[in-house]
Amino acid sequence: MRTIKLLATLQQIDLDLDADRRKFAENKEAMAPPEALRKLLAEVKAAEAQVTRWRKERKAREEAVAAQQARIKEEETRLYSGRIKDPREQVALQQHVESLKRHLETLEERALEAMMELEQSQETLATLQQAFEAQKAAWVSQREALEKEQEAIVAHARALKAKRETVAKQLPASDLNRYEALRKKLGGLAVAKLNGRSCGGCGASLPTSVVQQVHAGEMVKCPICGRLLDPS
Ligand SMILES: [Zn+2]
Repeated sequence: MRTIKLLATLQQIDLDLDADRRKFAENKEAMAPPEALRKLLAEVKAAEAQVTRWRKERKAREEAVAAQQARIKEEETRLYSGRIKDPREQVALQQHVESLKRHLETLEERALEAMMELEQSQETLATLQQAFEAQKAAWVSQREALEKEQEAIVAHARALKAKRETVAKQLPASDLNRYEALRKKLGGLAVAKLNGRSCGGCGASLPTSVVQQVHAGEMVKCPICGRLLDPS
């Protein structure tokens, strides 16, 4: 096979390998947990903290109610024990019990409020958890599909590399080095196809003499971009 044909084959393999690498990197990025999922997880954590907070609060407020009820019971027992003989002392104690009862109402309201807040925070948490689980499941299945795609890309690239080795072996070292240097210099494209009379690399219209040389199978560079021209 003519050198230019081998180089053109090598170029196509390298372009395919470049595409594999790009796709692999792109997939890898797409496999990371999406921002929305991370945000949702943070919201779930915050909601969990709220539930914990209100659960503690409800317990404390219910305990305050129970303590107040115990105090009232104690004072009422004393009031109705018949041990207090002084009417003024009796009235004072009666008033004290009434004030304790008024405060009990406040404490009960606060306990009820904590219970409602707890229920509300539990509902919020459940809603967020549901949304999180649904989004997570979607992401996991997407990631699984991408993992399969990655495996296919790796296998494809491996086959290309083997093919590349076979082609490269048939090329003289000087041509191979020239190709590699051009590829590095010209954005990955060292060999450009001839499109009619123009260079497939830069689009320049080529002189007839150059076109003829290319068709004759000679190693010719595009006078504008410097790429080797492939007649096919
Ligand atoms: Zn060109």
